[in-house]
Order: sequence, then structure tokens, then C-alpha cells
Amino acid sequence: MQAISVQQPWAFAIARGGKSVSNQGAPTAYRGPLLIHASMRVDLSACDSPLVQAAGWDPRDPLAAIGAAIAVADLAAVCSATVDGGTDGCACGPWAEPGMHHWHLADVRALPRPIVALGRTDLWEPSASLVAEVETMLTTAAANQAG
Ligand SMILES: [Zn+2]
Repeated sequence: MQAISVQQPWAFAIARGGKSVSNQGAPTAYRGPLLIHASMRVDLSACDSPLVQAAGWDPRDPLAAIGAAIAVADLAAVCSATVDGGTDGCACGPWAEPGMHHWHLADVRALPRPIVALGRTDLWEPSASLVAEVETMLTTAAANQAG
């Protein structure tokens, strides 16, 4: 599993609001499980954006936390069509920002509660203990839903 740190409220929008594209400054060849970590910095100007409001942004939600892992997704694809001034656009939807690499996230699973962790910029490898805690949490949540 790899991880990315995303500023709030964007991390929340991924975890709760159906945000299926993460705008990143770099591409990656990695595909597979991706831990979504809310970084310590908040993009305050984004909190009022219609997209974020429509995603149900709620600062009181536990997953509005900063400095914590809040969800797991599958990194399914990366679109770089609009990087380097590409003007043809792409079909990545409203979350995609021009000029950025669009990391497509599938099968997003919000964690039942945030797990405090230090993040880094770009793609980083979560510690084995953090991965174990995330997987235990998701397994327990799935079992509770099944029951
Ligand atoms: Zn795109």
C-alpha cells in the first residue's frame, strides 16, 4: 500500500463526497491500494467552493481531521492529458484541475475513524503498523455491516 497526503477539505471530499479524482503535481506508475491521508495544512479557500459544499463538507465530521489517515482507495489510473498546456481537455469530470495529473480513485472506503499519522508530500509508504491498523479497521467495519 502507498499513501498520499491531501489537504482538507479535499481529503474529506474523497473520503465522503465522491471525489474520484485527486489533482497531483506529478504522475506515478503505482497502481493499487492508496491510503488517503489528510495533511496538516487546510486549503481554507476551498471550504466554500460549490464542489466541496456539494460533497457534504462538514468540519465537525471526524473525517474532517487533519494529520490523519481517513480513507483507502484504489489508484486505478492517472490522466496527464492537460499537463504541459494540453488544451484538448479530458473527460475526468468536475474535480479535475487543468494542468494537473489526475489520479483516478476507485472503490473509496472511508475509515470508521481517523488514524493520526504523519504524512509527507508526494507518494509515500505508510508504516506496517499503520497499514495493519487500517486493515483491521476496515475488516471490522465490514463485519459489522454484514452482521
Ligand atoms: Zn484528466
